[in-house]
Amino acid sequence: MGGFGKASVRDAEVTGRRVLMRADLNVPLENGKVGDDNRIRASLPTLELLRERGASVVLVSHLGRPNGEDPALSMKPVADRLGELTSAEVSLAPGVVGPEVEATAGDLKPGDVLVLENSRFEPGETKNDPELAKALATLADIFVNDAFGSTHRAHASTEGVAHLLPTYAGLLMEQELTELSKVRDDPERPLIIILGGAKVTDKVGVIDRFLDFAQEILIGGAMAFSFFRAEGRDTGNSLVEDEGVESARRVLADAEKSDSILELPEDLVLGREFEAGTEVQELNGIDVPEGWMGLDIGANTAANYSRRIARAKTVFWNGPMGAFELDPFAAGTRAVGEAVAAASGHTVVGGGDSAAAMAEFGLADKVDWLSTGGGASLEFVEGKKLPGVEAIPDA
Ligand code: ADP
Ligand code: MG
Repeated sequence: MGGFGKASVRDAEVTGRRVLMRADLNVPLENGKVGDDNRIRASLPTLELLRERGASVVLVSHLGRPNGEDPALSMKPVADRLGELTSAEVSLAPGVVGPEVEATAGDLKPGDVLVLENSRFEPGETKNDPELAKALATLADIFVNDAFGSTHRAHASTEGVAHLLPTYAGLLMEQELTELSKVRDDPERPLIIILGGAKVTDKVGVIDRFLDFAQEILIGGAMAFSFFRAEGRDTGNSLVEDEGVESARRVLADAEKSDSILELPEDLVLGREFEAGTEVQELNGIDVPEGWMGLDIGANTAANYSRRIARAKTVFWNGPMGAFELDPFAAGTRAVGEAVAAASGHTVVGGGDSAAAMAEFGLADKVDWLSTGGGASLEFVEGKKLPGVEAIPDA
């Protein structure tokens, strides 16, 4: 299937069978209800395909980081929301695995959906415990992994169970891999990579991967200050990841020798404090005075980056250009978001906060692909092997 290369749910014989589907339903909760339901919606195409073909579905996901069983992180709100989004009979299992859950799964009729409890209620989940994988496998005949956002973790429900049942990639998984492969392997050029957000160490692997491969790498967000520190600039009270300064120094040296252009901000928006109501000042330059912190890229930087993005044939963006959650520091991220949305090239955005920014600015459906995976999409484009993907057999 066009460079995708993995066994696809499209080719699975599922009629009359029970399918264990791993989805990424790790949604934000607000007052005990689902906040943003995008991840649930993103799982619907595979779920509906399975139901239309006469399968019953046992759905499994983690939710947050519970320490053992935590009623506040039950899948109940997710099951409720899912029930509203499909015509299926959706029920919530009395646990993740075990005899009671097996009995409930055994009663499913074609088209029915059973949502298992939060996979991380089981301590074996994050340890990729073979016993838990086995218990999950007894619940179904076939495994479909659609949880791209969890593939960088070798857990029982993402990796272990895939070795115990006939395993296929879901439609979302397939689309994620296809879209991100385009950026990683054979992008139309010029290719522009835009990186921002909090930490250099999260993203230095991506810079390394794309130096000499992408035409331009544009840097914003707090991670820019590790570069400025490495250059011996004043960073004032800006958030500087000390651990990242050495990496930044090395990247700067590598960039000197590279054909790729590495761009850093040329101006900034400063604040006194990390708060919406704080005193704000524009700085035509990058040396941050004592008592101030750099919280957004400036207007000249935003215009420069936007001009470059408009010329790109492929764009990959991960990480906001500033503290976009705070109104006075959202303009840089908004400008870059608008430039990406308007670009005629193929545009791919990954990262939880970047995706949230695009949604907030009403631009989410104006990019070619908004990845549901933050860490997973970064690791994939870096060229790392993702355990959850590796465990799906090749087509
Ligand atoms: P993503 O989830 O898209 O990968 P990150 O998690 O790496 O992005 O970074 C997002 C966070 O970085 C946001 O909370 C944002 O407020 C913060 N941030 C970006 N720029 C700055 C800055 N200059 N100073 C402080 N925080 C920043
Ligand atoms: Mg984030």
